[in-house]
Amino acid sequence: MFRYDLHVHTEHSRDGFCSIAEAVRAARAMGLKGIAITDHDTIDGNLEAAKIDSDDCIVIPGIEVSSKDGHILGLGVSELIPRGLSATETVASIKGQGGLAIAAHPFGLGRRVGIVSKAKFDAIEVFNSRTYLGNRLAYGFAERNGLPMVAGSDAHHPDEIGLAGVTINCEPEIDAILESIAKGEASIFGRTLSPVIYIQRAFQKLIRKL
Ligand SMILES: [Zn+2]
Ligand SMILES: [Zn+2]
Repeated sequence: MFRYDLHVHTEHSRDGFCSIAEAVRAARAMGLKGIAITDHDTIDGNLEAAKIDSDDCIVIPGIEVSSKDGHILGLGVSELIPRGLSATETVASIKGQGGLAIAAHPFGLGRRVGIVSKAKFDAIEVFNSRTYLGNRLAYGFAERNGLPMVAGSDAHHPDEIGLAGVTINCEPEIDAILESIAKGEASIFGRTLSPVIYIQRAFQKLIRKL
């Protein structure tokens, strides 16, 4: 059984404060077997990760696409997917690359609602450590519809990595991991980021923008 955090941002995201090397180090320190790099609308982090020696830490190449219907995680992608497409188009593009399309924090407060019914997702992110209201709704939706469930920290800083993720009982190889998720074999674990730290970090993000 191995643990993976399937939602990790690095400094390749405008609001990320974590280098690829730090992400890998943090994953190891948290006892994870791997992470998915899911930066906002870029795959640059994956290209960088492919060049570094991540040893026994599996780095799943991913992306978090800002579709016009909400955020969509693509795992196992090799090509950039443009932002602003519909959920249906985004999901088709991810699947066309052999990747998994996952509705990210679909019921999070302030998020666009209804994304889960706009496309055929491979899995639903039912636990996200930066979502305080809405995880239960996502879980309920996935359960009612018999959809595979996943979880991730949505880390934007190294110390958030491993707050949530999935436990999977398969060979620690990217293809096997993705297949296992698609079959609904992943079990989820997680806790939320402390709201106090969340607010501090929201300010940090704001300051960076100014
Ligand atoms: Zn998001
Ligand atoms: Zn995210």
